[in-house]
Amino acid sequence: MGLFTPDLYYSDVLAIDLADLRARGVRALLVDLDNTLLPRDTNVVTPELRGWAGTLEDAGFVACLVSNNWHDRVFEVADALGFGLVPKALKPLPFAFRKAMRLLGAGPATSAVVGDQLFTDILGGNMLGLTTVLVEPLSTSDLPHTLLLRLIERRLLADRQPLA
Ligand SMILES: [Mg+2]
Repeated sequence: MGLFTPDLYYSDVLAIDLADLRARGVRALLVDLDNTLLPRDTNVVTPELRGWAGTLEDAGFVACLVSNNWHDRVFEVADALGFGLVPKALKPLPFAFRKAMRLLGAGPATSAVVGDQLFTDILGGNMLGLTTVLVEPLSTSDLPHTLLLRLIERRLLADRQPLA
Protein backbone atom coordinates (compact mmCIF):
# COMPACT_ATOMS: atom_id res chain seq x y z
CA MET A 1 0.00 0.00 0.00
CA GLY A 2 1.33 3.42 -0.91
CA LEU A 3 1.53 6.18 1.67
CA PHE A 4 -1.25 8.04 -0.14
CA THR A 5 -3.51 4.99 -0.35
CA PRO A 6 -6.30 4.73 2.22
CA ASP A 7 -7.14 1.26 3.52
CA LEU A 8 -10.84 2.10 3.32
CA TYR A 9 -12.83 4.74 1.49
CA TYR A 10 -16.39 5.80 2.32
CA SER A 11 -18.73 8.56 1.19
CA ASP A 12 -18.95 9.97 4.73
CA VAL A 13 -18.40 9.03 8.37
CA LEU A 14 -21.96 7.74 8.79
CA ALA A 15 -21.29 5.16 6.07
CA ILE A 16 -18.24 3.65 7.81
CA ASP A 17 -18.71 -0.07 8.50
CA LEU A 18 -17.88 -0.22 12.21
CA ALA A 19 -18.09 -4.02 12.33
CA ASP A 20 -15.40 -4.17 9.64
CA LEU A 21 -13.18 -1.83 11.66
CA ARG A 22 -13.66 -4.02 14.74
CA ALA A 23 -12.75 -7.07 12.68
CA ARG A 24 -9.50 -5.29 11.75
CA GLY A 25 -8.75 -4.86 15.46
CA VAL A 26 -9.51 -1.14 15.53
CA ARG A 27 -11.05 0.33 18.68
CA ALA A 28 -9.74 3.92 18.66
CA LEU A 29 -10.63 6.53 16.04
CA LEU A 30 -8.53 9.64 15.39
CA VAL A 31 -11.03 11.81 13.56
CA ASP A 32 -10.50 14.92 11.46
CA LEU A 33 -12.96 17.81 11.87
CA ASP A 34 -13.05 20.11 8.83
CA ASN A 35 -14.92 18.60 5.91
CA THR A 36 -14.89 15.20 7.63
CA LEU A 37 -17.33 15.70 10.53
CA LEU A 38 -18.57 19.17 9.57
CA PRO A 39 -18.39 21.28 6.44
CA ARG A 40 -15.60 23.80 6.86
CA ASP A 41 -18.02 26.73 6.76
CA THR A 42 -20.50 25.50 9.39
CA ASN A 43 -20.51 25.07 13.12
CA VAL A 44 -23.62 23.01 13.67
CA VAL A 45 -23.32 19.54 15.18
CA THR A 46 -26.27 17.74 13.62
CA PRO A 47 -28.43 15.15 15.42
CA GLU A 48 -27.06 12.57 12.93
CA LEU A 49 -23.52 13.35 14.05
CA ARG A 50 -24.45 13.14 17.72
CA GLY A 51 -26.15 9.86 16.94
CA TRP A 52 -23.00 8.58 15.25
CA ALA A 53 -20.92 9.51 18.30
CA GLY A 54 -23.37 7.52 20.44
CA THR A 55 -23.19 4.57 18.08
CA LEU A 56 -19.39 4.59 18.31
CA GLU A 57 -19.53 4.53 22.07
CA ASP A 58 -22.12 1.75 22.11
CA ALA A 59 -19.92 -0.26 19.74
CA GLY A 60 -16.99 0.08 22.15
CA PHE A 61 -14.94 2.64 20.23
CA VAL A 62 -13.12 5.60 21.75
CA ALA A 63 -12.54 8.70 19.64
CA CYS A 64 -10.40 11.81 19.56
CA LEU A 65 -10.59 14.81 17.26
CA VAL A 66 -7.21 15.47 15.66
CA SER A 67 -7.45 18.80 13.87
CA ASN A 68 -4.98 21.20 12.32
CA ASN A 69 -7.50 23.85 13.35
CA TRP A 70 -7.24 25.59 16.71
CA HIS A 71 -10.30 27.86 16.80
CA ASP A 72 -13.06 27.65 19.45
CA ARG A 73 -14.98 25.49 17.02
CA VAL A 74 -12.79 22.39 17.52
CA PHE A 75 -13.22 22.59 21.30
CA GLU A 76 -17.00 23.00 20.95
CA VAL A 77 -17.36 20.05 18.59
CA ALA A 78 -15.15 17.74 20.67
CA ASP A 79 -17.21 18.67 23.72
CA ALA A 80 -20.56 18.19 21.95
CA LEU A 81 -19.56 14.71 20.72
CA GLY A 82 -17.76 13.58 23.88
CA PHE A 83 -14.52 13.08 21.92
CA GLY A 84 -10.99 13.77 23.14
CA LEU A 85 -9.15 16.57 21.37
CA VAL A 86 -5.72 17.30 19.94
CA PRO A 87 -5.93 20.69 18.18
CA LYS A 88 -3.21 22.47 16.18
CA ALA A 89 -2.14 19.04 15.04
CA LEU A 90 0.27 19.89 12.18
CA LYS A 91 -0.82 16.79 10.27
CA PRO A 92 0.72 14.86 8.52
CA LEU A 93 3.45 15.11 11.18
CA PRO A 94 3.19 12.21 13.66
CA PHE A 95 3.15 14.07 16.99
CA ALA A 96 -0.57 14.77 17.25
CA PHE A 97 -1.56 11.25 16.20
CA ARG A 98 0.80 9.82 18.83
CA LYS A 99 -0.64 12.19 21.44
CA ALA A 100 -4.19 11.18 20.53
CA MET A 101 -3.31 7.47 20.80
CA ARG A 102 -1.81 8.13 24.24
CA LEU A 103 -4.99 9.97 25.29
CA LEU A 104 -7.11 7.03 24.15
CA GLY A 105 -4.80 4.35 25.54
CA ALA A 106 -4.40 2.81 22.09
CA GLY A 107 -1.53 1.97 19.74
CA PRO A 108 -1.07 1.88 15.96
CA ALA A 109 -2.49 -1.64 15.65
CA THR A 110 -5.76 -0.66 17.33
CA SER A 111 -6.18 2.87 15.90
CA ALA A 112 -7.63 4.25 12.69
CA VAL A 113 -7.37 7.72 11.20
CA VAL A 114 -10.58 9.05 9.67
CA GLY A 115 -10.26 12.08 7.41
CA ASP A 116 -10.95 13.73 4.07
CA GLN A 117 -7.42 14.56 2.93
CA LEU A 118 -4.74 12.31 1.48
CA PHE A 119 -1.94 14.74 2.27
CA THR A 120 -2.72 15.20 5.96
CA ASP A 121 -4.95 12.47 7.39
CA ILE A 122 -4.12 9.49 5.20
CA LEU A 123 -0.39 10.21 4.74
CA GLY A 124 0.03 10.83 8.49
CA GLY A 125 -1.85 7.66 9.44
CA ASN A 126 -0.02 5.48 6.94
CA MET A 127 3.39 6.74 8.10
CA LEU A 128 2.56 5.47 11.61
CA GLY A 129 1.07 2.19 10.39
CA LEU A 130 -2.50 3.00 11.44
CA THR A 131 -5.59 1.85 9.59
CA THR A 132 -6.58 4.74 7.32
CA VAL A 133 -10.15 5.65 6.39
CA LEU A 134 -10.77 8.29 3.73
CA VAL A 135 -14.14 10.03 3.45
CA GLU A 136 -15.30 12.40 0.74
CA PRO A 137 -15.06 16.08 1.75
CA LEU A 138 -18.39 17.47 3.01
CA SER A 139 -18.03 20.76 1.14
CA THR A 140 -15.97 22.30 -1.59
CA SER A 141 -15.13 25.19 0.73
CA ASP A 142 -11.46 24.81 1.62
CA LEU A 143 -8.27 26.77 2.16
CA PRO A 144 -6.59 27.80 -1.13
CA HIS A 145 -3.65 25.41 -0.75
CA THR A 146 -6.08 22.58 0.06
CA LEU A 147 -8.02 23.26 -3.13
CA LEU A 148 -4.80 22.86 -5.07
CA LEU A 149 -4.02 19.60 -3.29
CA ARG A 150 -7.53 18.34 -4.12
CA LEU A 151 -6.61 18.33 -7.80
CA ILE A 152 -3.62 16.11 -7.04
CA GLU A 153 -5.75 13.92 -4.77
CA ARG A 154 -8.15 13.21 -7.62
CA ARG A 155 -5.21 11.97 -9.69
CA LEU A 156 -3.89 9.78 -6.86
CA LEU A 157 -7.31 8.23 -6.20
CA ALA A 158 -7.73 7.60 -9.90
CA ASP A 159 -11.01 5.73 -10.37
CA ARG A 160 -11.33 4.50 -6.80
CA GLN A 161 -14.88 4.86 -5.50
CA PRO A 162 -16.27 4.82 -1.94
CA LEU A 163 -17.31 1.39 -0.58
CA ALA A 164 -20.57 2.91 0.69
MG1 LIG B 1 -10.30 17.88 6.72
